[in-house]
Amino acid sequence: MNADLAAVLEYLQGIGWEEIYAPAPRAASSAAVRPAVAPVTDAASVRPAAPKSAAAPAIAPTAPAVPSAPPAERAARLAEVGTEASACTRCRLAEGRRTVVFGTGNTDADLMFIGEGPGAEEDRQGLPFVGPAGQLLTRIIGAIGLQRGDVYIANVVKCRPPGNRDPQPDEVAACRGFLEEQVRLIAPRVIVALGRIAAQTLLGNELPVGRMRGSWHRVFGVPLRVTYHPAALLRNDALKRPTWEDMQVVRDRLAGTG
Ligand code: URA
Repeated sequence: MNADLAAVLEYLQGIGWEEIYAPAPRAASSAAVRPAVAPVTDAASVRPAAPKSAAAPAIAPTAPAVPSAPPAERAARLAEVGTEASACTRCRLAEGRRTVVFGTGNTDADLMFIGEGPGAEEDRQGLPFVGPAGQLLTRIIGAIGLQRGDVYIANVVKCRPPGNRDPQPDEVAACRGFLEEQVRLIAPRVIVALGRIAAQTLLGNELPVGRMRGSWHRVFGVPLRVTYHPAALLRNDALKRPTWEDMQVVRDRLAGTG
């Protein structure tokens, strides 16, 4: 067994997937040997063919998610948008927040994860997915052969909803311009919506996650896959297998083999 494959298996064991993922079929080894996703270099590379979704996006893009500027310029613009967000008072969530959790990671990423909203730890640190669910997300990213720094991670709302309640529709609406700009500027090849709130927001429906996962959707011109929120996996072991299946599909799409 080579060192890369051993590392992937270690990730899987660490997150309790060894029971559902018996000794490494082809998929795991291809993830292990595949290098980190390549930077986006041209418009064609950010628009791989994908089936069209029947669902209309709730958040209409102002512009297609195609990098129209070099990575450094897009990163600089993203920083400006982040600065704007850090002073945002467009909704009531501004009143209770400690920090605005804008997003983190590779601003030229091929893969972008979108969650729901910051929790207590995220609010403290100003970074998305750094609490227990975030630690699991980091391992999930590792299980597909990537590191946190390879991907971009953001949330639908950038400020912590009090008591970790679901963000309200007006709060989601107030924040959507920021999310839209993030996707447009990063122009990932694939988006993964983590959990019901993110998926419903992006796809503009009220379906359960189980009905949205299992097929490709498209938002902002970018192929999107829905999977379970890592926090749900922490509560329910049975969701680990379908999540791993979703992530294998994402990994294969990025590798051009799916
Ligand atoms: N849950 C989310 O949806 N986002 C975070 O940043 C942390 C937990």
